[in-house]
Amino acid sequence: MEFAYSPKVNELCRRVRDFMDAHIVPRMRQWHEEVHQGIYPVSFMEDLKALARAEGLWNLFLPGLRDDEPGTRLTNLEYAPLAEIMGRVGWAAEVFNCNAPDTGNMELLHMFANDEQYATWLRPLLNGEIRSAFAMTEPDVPSSDATNITTLITRDGSDYVINGRKWFITNAAHPDCKLLIVMGKTDPTAESHQQQSMVLVPRDTPGVDIVRNINIMNHFSPEGHCEIVFRNVRVPVSNLLGEEGSGFALAQARLGPGRIHHCMRSIGAAELALELMIDRAQERKTFGKYLHQHGTVGEWIAKSRIEIDQARLLVLKAAWMIDNVGAKEARKEISMIKALVPGVHTAVCDRAMQVFGAMGISPDTPLADHWTWGRALRYADGPDEVHLQAIARMEVKAAREHLGASAAYLTPPLR
Ligand SMILES: Cc1cc2nc3c(=O)[nH]c(=O)nc-3n(C[C@H](O)[C@H](O)[C@H](O)COP(=O)(O)OP(=O)(O)OC[C@H]3O[C@@H](n4cnc5c(N)ncnc54)[C@H](O)[C@@H]3O)c2cc1C
Repeated sequence: MEFAYSPKVNELCRRVRDFMDAHIVPRMRQWHEEVHQGIYPVSFMEDLKALARAEGLWNLFLPGLRDDEPGTRLTNLEYAPLAEIMGRVGWAAEVFNCNAPDTGNMELLHMFANDEQYATWLRPLLNGEIRSAFAMTEPDVPSSDATNITTLITRDGSDYVINGRKWFITNAAHPDCKLLIVMGKTDPTAESHQQQSMVLVPRDTPGVDIVRNINIMNHFSPEGHCEIVFRNVRVPVSNLLGEEGSGFALAQARLGPGRIHHCMRSIGAAELALELMIDRAQERKTFGKYLHQHGTVGEWIAKSRIEIDQARLLVLKAAWMIDNVGAKEARKEISMIKALVPGVHTAVCDRAMQVFGAMGISPDTPLADHWTWGRALRYADGPDEVHLQAIARMEVKAAREHLGASAAYLTPPLR
């Protein structure tokens, strides 16, 4: 087992880190100021994207990238430490065309788009010319069980007509968002996992009504987590992605790699929080001691290091599994990191916020934003509990093969 990154990955890490230090970190204040003034996309985004692309730091997330597609083809394992570096700044991934939910959508289109869909949607997404959203969750039903969704996609001649209400749809408020991948039911009478389909809906289609951008813990996100009503939205049948009834399977295919990217970035956010915590703890003294010399704070630092390293190792293992046996075979590991990492992300940010005193919950550090996003990730792409349930189910199923064998280790008293 090899724990070190390869020379190629170390070199890419250096380049992404240098890019962040030179072009992204110095613009954090400007990003906030412009967003506060309603300037979005921010004025420098396209320049930074062009620079990242020119430097070969583009579409780093897509292992299946073809030779004629823009970007650097990396495995998930190679990409993980790069995403970690991007995760230190909430908006950095977009600069490298590696941001959610576009990455998951690009992967989905890469696998299932036909030639026309490829040219219309995937090409501009790979070029970073447009943004996209994925619309599954609904306010009226518990959507962590995707079989519950009620949006109807009804065939009418050579069109589909879509009616339903979605919410928390990330990216839908982005001015460059041109595509909504909508999940709904084409056949509510079919077997429960074959009722759903996905259709590609141009965002400017009549009947698509973006009702509001929902704040996350009262934080405003300019790209949006939107509530959208679809009223008699009509798209040609050729906008179907994959086959009718395949929506559930497509959603599973999309969420595997998408989930791991969030976790990779979360490790970076937690690592930054720990760095801030340690710096602060070495600067400030209370009751005659530096903060890190108080046992409680020392323990927070130690626990955070242990939890981050545990989480990173598990994320790298999941990435290795996706690369070597595929996302389907890696679904237990993907659920494990999805249930674990957002918790580590928020726990480390929470300790760092406490070490900073009141400043920790102010906008003067990035901690409150990172904490908020970590908390949101405990729902996005499926709540913790659903992943824990999935892990338990797989563990119990696997254990059935040797059911009862553990009894040999029991030592009941002799009678
Ligand atoms: C910031 C953010 C961005 C998002 N982006 C998108 C997006 O782009 N597109 C999209 O479609 N959706 C998006 N979502 C929605 C997200 O995927 C859903 O919130 C999530 O799947 C849970 O669905 P729900 O909110 O309907 O909760 P429900 O399904 O109502 O579940 C509520 C709670 O019930 C509990 N629960 C559910 N199942 C189990 C179980 N098996 N065992 C134990 N407890 C259980 C959990 O505690 C869960 O939190 C986003 C959410 C957030 C917060």
